[in-house]
Amino acid sequence: MFEENENLPKKFPCPLCGELKRLQKSKKDKPYYYCDYCGVQVFIRGKLGIQKLSNLNNSGVIDSISKNDPKLIFELIQIESKIEFMKSKINKLEEKSWETDLIDSETKLLIQLKESLIELEFEFSEKIKNL
Ligand SMILES: [Zn+2]
Repeated sequence: MFEENENLPKKFPCPLCGELKRLQKSKKDKPYYYCDYCGVQVFIRGKLGIQKLSNLNNSGVIDSISKNDPKLIFELIQIESKIEFMKSKINKLEEKSWETDLIDSETKLLIQLKESLIELEFEFSEKIKNL
């Protein structure tokens, strides 16, 4: 088993064929999986990556997806990364706006980012709803 605080999924899809593969523990106690069909090996060595995997599992997304289309997980991960990226950009601009007036292009960007964020969050929730 992995460290107690990590609630990792038992399986995860191969990035090439989407087949669910059993998560195993490496010699260094890191999760990895192997697709014998494609010959793909995926090691998740970083703390952040392991945390993300654990978060995905805790959210129940992996369970639902594996019953339907395992490859969907990669779409969701992509959308989630975009959401995180946008949130951090929005935060930076908002923090700046507390100290100084934003120039027009920054104000425009902030509005665009917030609109895109709403769209992406909607897309994400719709995809999860339809699992
Ligand atoms: Zn594969």
